[in-house]
Order: sequence, then C-alpha cells, then structure tokens
Amino acid sequence: MARLFAEGDLALLIDPRGRRYLVTLVAGRSFQSHRGVLPHESIIGQEDGCRLRTLTGEEFIVLAPTLSDYILKMPRSAQVIYPKDIGPILVYGDIFPGATVVEAGVGSGALSLAILRAIGPTGKLVSYEIRDDHAAQARRNIPAFLPQTKNHTLRLGDLYEGIEERDVDRMVLDLPEPWRAIPVAADALRSGGILISYLPTVLQLHQLHQTLARERRFEFIEAFEVLERPWYLARTSARPVHRMVAHTGFITRAVRCAPRTHRTRAELLDLASMLEDEGMGQGE
Ligand code: SAH
Repeated sequence: MARLFAEGDLALLIDPRGRRYLVTLVAGRSFQSHRGVLPHESIIGQEDGCRLRTLTGEEFIVLAPTLSDYILKMPRSAQVIYPKDIGPILVYGDIFPGATVVEAGVGSGALSLAILRAIGPTGKLVSYEIRDDHAAQARRNIPAFLPQTKNHTLRLGDLYEGIEERDVDRMVLDLPEPWRAIPVAADALRSGGILISYLPTVLQLHQLHQTLARERRFEFIEAFEVLERPWYLARTSARPVHRMVAHTGFITRAVRCAPRTHRTRAELLDLASMLEDEGMGQGE
C-alpha cells in the first residue's frame, strides 16, 4: 500500500548533492535552502520516496525518515549511541517484543527509540536520567518520532541510588560509571535476564569487568566493539572508503543467574594478592 505524507509527518528532504534536511510538515510553511524553495503543501499527499522540483528546478527526493535517519538528525543534548552500535545492542541484548526493559541514561533518547521499537506496544521501557535538561530533550525527541507511545516511563533520578523495578528482562546502561550500578542491576533483573553496557574508554571497560567478575549474580561476561567499514562502489572501482570511524564505544554483555556459591579464579587471585600484600604469601 502506498505511504503518503500527511500534515504533521516528519520528512527527510535530500538535495541533488545528497545533503539531508529533516522537517515536520506544516501546511502554509515552506522548506528553504540555497537550492530553492519547496512548499510543505507540495509534499503533503505525495508518496514516500517521491521526487519534487523546487521553484528553481532543483530535484529533491523526499523520504519518511528511518530510525537511523532520525537519530542522526534529531536535536542532541548528549552524545547519542550510533546506529552501528544500536543494532548489535538490540540483538546481543536480545531486546524482544513484549520485553520489560530498564535503561539509563536517556541522553537525547536515541537508544530509547530503538528499544521502544524493538519491544513493541506489548513491552515496557523505563528510562532513568539524572539531568533534567537531557530528560526534557528526550521528552521532545521521542514522541516526535514515535507519537502516542504509552509504554514508556521516563524517571528523573540517579540510577546508582537504586530503582524500584523488579523482574526486568533486559537492562541497558549508557552512563559513565556502570560499575556503581551493578548491584542495582542484579537486584532489578530477573534470573536469566541480560545486562548490556556501553562505554567509550577501555579504563571504564576494565573497571566494569572487575566489578562484574566479583558480583555472584552475573555470568557469561563478554565485551566487544563494532567496526563498520563503508565501501566506495563505482564502475571502475570497488574498495573501502578511505576514512572510517575508528572508535565509538565498547559493548559489554552479562547474564543474570542464580548466585554462585563457589569462589571464582578472580576471587582466588584477589585473596592471593591480599595475602602477598600482608607478607604472608611468599612461601620461600
Ligand atoms: N543512550 C543515550 C545517550 C546517553 S548519554 C542515547 O542513545 O541518546 C549518558 C546519559 O547518562 C547523560 O544524559 C547523563 O546525564 C546520564 N547519566 C549520567 N549518570 C547518570 C546516573 N547516575 N543516573 C541516570 N542517568 C545518568
């Protein structure tokens, strides 16, 4: 079935050079750039993917923005998680339709949007954000892309202090000191639940792993990063693009299980080095 633009819709306008502009369609308004003018009324009623000419004859393609288009164009107050990392977070985090998910922080709401889409109308998302300016930005960005979302709760607060949610299926942390949230996550997640954390530096990653390895309720702790290499494709050439984004963040995954009762290797090593520090470990 054809998808036609209606008043109030988001539209992505792409000029002949590939420059992209995101607009909300309002009758009576016009889009203006150095490549000419397009009255919104000339877009309303047209089909997604249509080609339209400005009054000066420049051709634009008009698309309904995808989630990634929107994330890259929406106003930001904090750094967003990029599409290349969002995909793996959703899949390795196994964010499924109907899941109950807790997320922190919200920032501009990029990941919140992706989670809301993945859990669908039968799921439930609770997002924690400590800064009211970031929460306000997310409260504008999220309904602009997903209007009438009824299964999202945004709580203003410090996740490290604890949360009331229990029996949570999945938890996603995008905040600077996730190791401080490990007991909180272990209490909130149901047994078998999955924890995902996203971190920009390896020092944070290491600290998180040290904490996770000592929490008796987490197992299968893994970390990875995602490198996306775009390609240039033309008639006489097919090769990787010369530049790529070398780094965004590391993704950690852990599974909440019944608490361990035995000591792990990490704990035994801790004990050994404690004994050594006390001068009791050198058996020579
Ligand atoms: N995932 C978001 C970006 C989050 S940026 C996106 O994709 O758009 C990190 C956010 O965590 C910031 O907005 C910051 O204010 C928030 N934050 C930092 N510490 C926090 C805490 N203890 N509790 C809740 N939110 C916190």
